[in-house]
Amino acid sequence: MSAEAETFTCRQCSDKVMTGETPDRRGWCKACRRKVVRRAGGLAVIPAVLVAAGYFWMIDRFDLFKSNFLIIWIALGLALGYVAFKIARRVLFDVIRARTARRPATR
Ligand SMILES: [Zn+2]
Repeated sequence: MSAEAETFTCRQCSDKVMTGETPDRRGWCKACRRKVVRRAGGLAVIPAVLVAAGYFWMIDRFDLFKSNFLIIWIALGLALGYVAFKIARRVLFDVIRARTARRPATR
């Protein structure tokens, strides 16, 4: 790591110089990143619920709700929803960031 990691200018909230934290690949500070993560997390709930709903619909269709292993099927469904949430949040993070990113100031 270079010495520049100590101080940097966030590309999103422009000329504030951050100290004591490291920018990410695109030079964003933690606060800007957190905002995007929160928005992505809120939106990622939708695909996660859809995946879980689809999964439980499948369980119902195959009559697995009567199964002795029901607890396992439910745990698996929740895990699936969680994974879907994580993936969706990652994808949405990039999408939202690309949309909200400022154009570099030209002088
Ligand atoms: Zn920032």
